[in-house]
Amino acid sequence: MENDLKKAIDLIVNSKYTVAFTGAGISVESGIPPFRGETGLWSKYNPEILDLTYFSINPVESWRVIKEIFYDFFGEAKPNDAHIALAELEKNGIVKAVITQNIDNLHYEAGSKEVYEFHGNSRMLVCQYCSKKYKATDVNLADIPLCDHCHAVLKPDFIFFGEGIPELAYKKSFEAAKNADLIIIIGSTGEVVPASSIPSFAKQNGAKIIEINPEKTLFTNSITDIFLQGKATEIMNKILIGIKQKL
Ligand code: NAD
Repeated sequence: MENDLKKAIDLIVNSKYTVAFTGAGISVESGIPPFRGETGLWSKYNPEILDLTYFSINPVESWRVIKEIFYDFFGEAKPNDAHIALAELEKNGIVKAVITQNIDNLHYEAGSKEVYEFHGNSRMLVCQYCSKKYKATDVNLADIPLCDHCHAVLKPDFIFFGEGIPELAYKKSFEAAKNADLIIIIGSTGEVVPASSIPSFAKQNGAKIIEINPEKTLFTNSITDIFLQGKATEIMNKILIGIKQKL
């Protein structure tokens, strides 16, 4: 592990265009559980609430659960050392962009500027009819939220099952992956498509892949060059210290 860590630090310091690709795992130490697995959100809640058709037919039930998970609970979360390390590496000019599958806004809150939110963001709500957007904190979520313009039910501005990827985030993510000579994957199983194709696309274009995760994933034995087994905060803190010693 120490040897792999040194190799990873050298790769990062010598790279010209490092891009981070993050999944639910980077936010676990901020107190946000992943969806799947024994302690995942879907062991407690019905995933159908995030199905577009189910949501349209059952907006009251869907919103009650959505509020509990994504606003009462996610709303309290703060960025952890791994989010902050990525923001610092962007300030140093090393990380050029963060592509995230997360919808929790924590990369922005940590100070990252170039963030491509592949699945959208929970901090905004959108009207499904007129597309007017609202800050979730400006809306009373105790009642089912309605658009003040056309009175349609508002939806969180992240993608539900069956929805397409936001166009700009899709374009920017694949552009960044094409330019990347190094991708750092943090906390993603690689099971969610099409997001999981981004690191593979970068690899095909010659990028090296560093992966940080306590468990092996679909990436580990297929595209990963250096697997750093452990928690995101622990490994990113070590990487940051190693890089600072070299700069
Ligand atoms: P996933 O839920 O499929 O997998 C999470 C991964 O994180 C696992 O491989 C797990 O081993 C790893 N992990 C757990 N603890 C970790 C830690 N401390 N440090 C590093 N890694 C850790 O995640 P995914 O691949 O991102 O796919 C899940 C989907 O769910 C995504 O589409 C995402 O949008 C969504 N999601 C987002 C959030 C969020 O915004 N924080 C939370 C749950 C789910």
